[in-house]
Amino acid sequence: MWETCQQAIEDQGGTVQLRSSVERITHTDGRVRTVTVRCGDEERELSATQFISSMPLNELILKLDPPPPDAVLAAAHGLKHRAFLQVGLIIDQETSFPDNWIYIHSPDVKVGRIQNFKNWSPAMVPDQQKTCLGLEYFCDEDTHDPIWGMSDEALIALATREVDALGLARAADVEDGVVIRQPKAYPVYDGSYRQHVEVIKTYLAGFQNLQTIGRNGMHRYNNQDHSMLTGMLAVRNLLGEQHDLWNVNTERSYYEDFTREELRAREHSTDAPGRPATLAQNLNERAIS
Ligand SMILES: Cc1cc2nc3c(=O)[nH]c(=O)nc-3n(C[C@H](O)[C@H](O)[C@H](O)COP(=O)(O)OP(=O)(O)OC[C@H]3O[C@@H](n4cnc5c(N)ncnc54)[C@H](O)[C@@H]3O)c2cc1C
Repeated sequence: MWETCQQAIEDQGGTVQLRSSVERITHTDGRVRTVTVRCGDEERELSATQFISSMPLNELILKLDPPPPDAVLAAAHGLKHRAFLQVGLIIDQETSFPDNWIYIHSPDVKVGRIQNFKNWSPAMVPDQQKTCLGLEYFCDEDTHDPIWGMSDEALIALATREVDALGLARAADVEDGVVIRQPKAYPVYDGSYRQHVEVIKTYLAGFQNLQTIGRNGMHRYNNQDHSMLTGMLAVRNLLGEQHDLWNVNTERSYYEDFTREELRAREHSTDAPGRPATLAQNLNERAIS
């Protein structure tokens, strides 16, 4: 989907620059002026009139030049994330449990959730004689965390032992494994996060040409539908509409109104039959992530 999206942007003369990191954001008089982008060893400065950021909210604050007031920096340092890694195991077994995923509550194992990819779609497992289970471990992005700091080999061995201990597959049937690490998977909602976000939000409201969107971009437990909706509304704001992106995923009626509006508009259009219902349905179904 995103490759198609990239193609559409490029077809219209836009540029998508991958494997590039925004390192510095300069601003004057309440306007962002430039971003310094690092790509490998190369650094480039890009200027623009409008900026939309989906990088973690705290990182955005820490990359501003000149830096914000101390209270805003302290709020940025106060926002935390939880990381996650997944150990995918190839199992020489045609089926395992019947669900797409299950949560594991046993204190005897460290795994927190297990995905059963073939139950999501057979297309996710190339050999239908085999099963692929993804064992998910929630951890901190810190080499001192006993899980994050483990080598891939040790993680595959741990996952193999645990899948066996849970009775979902025999260790002897595990053929291979792969580890995927996801830093900053979850914005942490602790006792002070709301206050930190409020301080940052108030500060950023002083910028005339900067919008923050998405999950970590707003330090909000947004699902993909919410994240994409904030992006869509941010673009509409550039076109003159006035949406408060911080209202997405707080008040159910807000996005229901939005989708009703879309629905009405598209009922009168013949070019996209079926899409409004999908959008509305997606927005109203709560996926666990
Ligand atoms: C384990 C897990 C399971 C999930 N399951 C579901 C689900 O079933 N359904 C659902 O709806 N949602 C799910 N979600 C949530 C969903 O993935 C997010 O809501 C969505 O991906 C957020 O989109 P985003 O654009 O805000 O952030 P991202 O997709 O994280 O995109 C942000 C991008 O910014 C880039 N970036 C960060 N810093 C910089 C920088 N300094 N310079 C340049 N680029 C930078 C990152 O590399 C990244 O590509 C899940 C999330 C997790 C972690």
